[in-house]
Amino acid sequence: MPLNVVMLGPPASGKGTQAVRLAQARRIPKISTGDILREAAQNGSELGLRAKALMDRGELLGDDEMIAIVKERLARPDAAGGYILDGFPRTVPQAQELDRMVQGDPLVVIDLAVPDAELLKRMQTRRVCGACAAIAEPGWSKETCQRCGGQLTTRADDEDERVRQHRLDVYARESKPLLDYYRGRPTFQSINGAQAPDRVATDLAARIDAMANVPSRTKR
Ligand code: AMP
Repeated sequence: MPLNVVMLGPPASGKGTQAVRLAQARRIPKISTGDILREAAQNGSELGLRAKALMDRGELLGDDEMIAIVKERLARPDAAGGYILDGFPRTVPQAQELDRMVQGDPLVVIDLAVPDAELLKRMQTRRVCGACAAIAEPGWSKETCQRCGGQLTTRADDEDERVRQHRLDVYARESKPLLDYYRGRPTFQSINGAQAPDRVATDLAARIDAMANVPSRTKR
């Protein structure tokens, strides 16, 4: 059965970092709506320019637009064997629509819990690769991506203190209700995301493997 994972958690909780690791380990694609929008912004498309204006202010794009983007992406052949969603759903209507899209396939829902003070610190110091969108991890140099050798830079929406705080407020208002939406499911897991990335990755792999109905490569 395909492994379909949803990564929940506030900005800078480590969703992207963990999604990449898990995607590589399980050989399924990581689908990051933030990366899709940033790429569109770099390409200068109409969607990209509109998205950039909203992203730079820490606002969300509309549900209908995001749902259409994800629907199209999940329909591609590489997602047929499973996927990791990073940044979607971000609202309850998006989650309801995702349930309709997967048509009963189980979703493993992972929440990365991190205190606000730590999130603000991470946003302030986060560096990302301009070429491959990797997120720099503790121990990396400040300049060079350890995955592809590209140049590390900052995210526009990480630069302004008010935008950083606003994103946490938007998360609390729009995305935190997702925890109640998913909490009752047997495939919902909350993980301490304040640990070092390696520890979070270990916890995450163990929780996924422990879910009896979810096959993993290590168990096969
Ligand atoms: P992220 O890289 O996940 O932090 O997303 C960066 C920005 O992209 C967010 O602050 C939003 O402006 C936008 N965005 C990403 N995913 C979504 C989504 N599912 N719904 C609405 N806006 C989104």
